[in-house]
Amino acid sequence: MEPFRAEGSNGGLGHSSPTDPNAMTPRRMKPILANALVRRLGRERVSIAPDDLDRHALDARRAFRGFLSLTRVRHRPLAVVYPSTARHVAETVRLCREHRAPLIAFGGGSGLMGSASGCADGVTVDFTRMNRLLDLDVESQIVLVQPGLTWARLNEELAPHGLESGHDPWTVSIATIGGAVALNGLGYLAGRYGSAADQVLGLSAVAADGSVFRIRPARKRSVGPDLPRLLTGSEGTLALVTEFSLAVHPIPELRRPALYEFTTFEGGFRCLLRLFSQGLAPTSLDLGVEDWPGPGDHATPTSGVHTARLLLVYDGHTEVVEAHHRRAARLIADSGGRPLPDSEAQAEWGNRHAVAEMWRADPAVRDGEWLRFRAPGAPAESNAPLLFDYVHACLPPSHLLPYRKSTHDVARRCGLRIVQDGVWIRPDLYSAAYLAWGKDGPRRLARARRDLARAAHAAGGSMEYVHGVGVHLKPFLKKEWGSAWNLMRKIKRALDPEGLLNPGKLF
Ligand SMILES: Cc1cc2nc3c(=O)[nH]c(=O)nc-3n(C[C@H](O)[C@H](O)[C@H](O)COP(=O)(O)OP(=O)(O)OC[C@H]3O[C@@H](n4cnc5c(N)ncnc54)[C@H](O)[C@@H]3O)c2cc1C
Repeated sequence: MEPFRAEGSNGGLGHSSPTDPNAMTPRRMKPILANALVRRLGRERVSIAPDDLDRHALDARRAFRGFLSLTRVRHRPLAVVYPSTARHVAETVRLCREHRAPLIAFGGGSGLMGSASGCADGVTVDFTRMNRLLDLDVESQIVLVQPGLTWARLNEELAPHGLESGHDPWTVSIATIGGAVALNGLGYLAGRYGSAADQVLGLSAVAADGSVFRIRPARKRSVGPDLPRLLTGSEGTLALVTEFSLAVHPIPELRRPALYEFTTFEGGFRCLLRLFSQGLAPTSLDLGVEDWPGPGDHATPTSGVHTARLLLVYDGHTEVVEAHHRRAARLIADSGGRPLPDSEAQAEWGNRHAVAEMWRADPAVRDGEWLRFRAPGAPAESNAPLLFDYVHACLPPSHLLPYRKSTHDVARRCGLRIVQDGVWIRPDLYSAAYLAWGKDGPRRLARARRDLARAAHAAGGSMEYVHGVGVHLKPFLKKEWGSAWNLMRKIKRALDPEGLLNPGKLF
């Protein structure tokens, strides 16, 4: 069978597109495939309702990120399937394979890079009905879950047992376990528990040929290669995961945030390096600078010197948490940091999911309307929207300050305004968010994206540490993988020779 070529892609695995003169056009294939899916899975599990197809055409990556064409739905899937069991998933994969239709896994649809965005000729497999906790081994602190369960629901189920999950993203109530693991996301507890993928001990999945396989859970194995790791971060391109065994953790006696202010970001960052070198790595930290254009501020593409705020969270037994905070406070004072009221720290920690809740509740927020309120001083042009994008690079901490400088240089060169930047969780994770406006905004954002990816690679780092690559950063992936690029493509070819799983993404 010829490999599938995704619309708008560079040919998936680099083969030519199918030349079979009898190949069905999507328009002809749609009713045939949809009927076959209905026959095999039941009407209640297959949707071709226009609203449903539209909803699954895009994830959270929208036009305001510099891709104005995303205001129109372009790649509506042929059908959306809602499996409840692994058998439904396997049947769907087999049927799609027979019809040579690609498959796109879909969780909460909150990914920011277009990883779950639809494919015009494809079937979207929406996992949100596979949302059950199947088994909890309290003594072993291991849970077996379906992939469509959200992290918030998982926490609700764990709480009566004194347990919680180790992944706490902003989108805790929206992100599914399958989506977060497929992007290897990061959350607020990552300083203690690591990334979403770090929670995975084992999994079951359906391969591209429709076969089902299980990788037994184990906290440690020397039998390798590490197969769960191969599938995490793979954005639904290697297999569709139907169950996860996850490590879960005791709810700590105390989780306490504290807030500090530094006169400069550099001062705060150097203080973080000292905290880490003295064994005071926290469960969570956020060192950030904000520079949104307020009313009357004409959004010049520069940012002046701004104070930086540091949120520092320790958790565990009360006396240990308090001891950590005391030692950290002394070191912070010695580094020029000033404590802010506890009430502010509590409020900031308590509000950590608020932006995502707004995103969930309001379609206008999803389309970027919030930018006008957040940046009232940005120049308005009636026919040129305000645009916004960001970089999340992982770099050796010794390269972080120079990389931050290059980010500000790139922003100046591209006529952008950095409105937020900082370090999250660890001193090697740097993020900057920037605004663009005017008709050539998309072009300037595209240039910045390229230059920032290049700068991250030149600094010996990774261009993206949290949101995956999707279609947003795909043009720079070959550079990121460097000499391993061919190996990566061989892995894809071995696991999905026809290129049916999420074509146009990653490979
Ligand atoms: C306001 C806002 C704040 C955010 N904050 C954070 C944050 O703090 N941390 C963070 O990590 N992310 C954050 N994100 C991004 C997003 O919420 C996460 O990436 C989330 O984990 C995606 O999960 P999802 O269920 O929505 O996945 P989707 O977007 O639906 O899918 C993501 C990827 O997973 C694949 N996939 C889904 N299910 C399966 C499966 N069963 N098998 C194989 N592949 C599968 C899809 O094909 C796709 O490639 C934020 C997004 C928004 C909008």
